[in-house]
Amino acid sequence: MRLLVVEDEEDLVDALRVGLVRAGYAVDVAYDAPSAEEKLQVNTYDLVLLDLNLPGGDGFQLCRMVRAAGNGVRIIMVTARDRLDDRVRGLDEGADDYLVKPFAFPELLARVRALLRRDTGAGTSVLEVGELRLDTARMEVTLGGRALALTPKEYGVLHYLMTRPGHVVSTEELLEHVWDEHADPFTNTVRVTVGNLRRKLQVEGLIETVISRGYRLREAP
Ligand code: CA
Repeated sequence: MRLLVVEDEEDLVDALRVGLVRAGYAVDVAYDAPSAEEKLQVNTYDLVLLDLNLPGGDGFQLCRMVRAAGNGVRIIMVTARDRLDDRVRGLDEGADDYLVKPFAFPELLARVRALLRRDTGAGTSVLEVGELRLDTARMEVTLGGRALALTPKEYGVLHYLMTRPGHVVSTEELLEHVWDEHADPFTNTVRVTVGNLRRKLQVEGLIETVISRGYRLREAP
């Protein structure tokens, strides 16, 4: 899953980036409102962490712009303002959740997980497809009870596929949702990562290649 962190405090950005990448997310950063606007137009994000007080604009405007463009990306407003009317306004402008600084990182992660699973139908932090089980809180993956040691990208690809079992997911879509903005669009990194993931799964046909369209995770029988 790919996140955009919109925040101008560099120390906080650095801490967030390290923590979020460690938690298995691809992370892009925008330090001001105009670059956030541009990235939101160019890239596809699964969730945005949005500061309110930004150079060149504010989070309320950005949120309104995103929603006016019909973009349903999940948004968590993160801000030092803790006044009730700001929280109400943030939610009314289209934010899905609101977190007041200072916050505890585990709480932020839990809110991110909770929002990201809204689309998947999963009621908890655990995704299950057939014998595959992926715990997004612990970053643990098992297949038929056997623990799999995955790299962050392998984990990201499997996580994304497990949110769409039975659906064809293109290479471009995986690149958009599992890699950050520094990924080379002409690279074969997706193919290599899927190949390594298949070897670790050791189950023939669990991730199918659908010729000229992409990959499909076999649904539960
Ligand atoms: Ca700020």
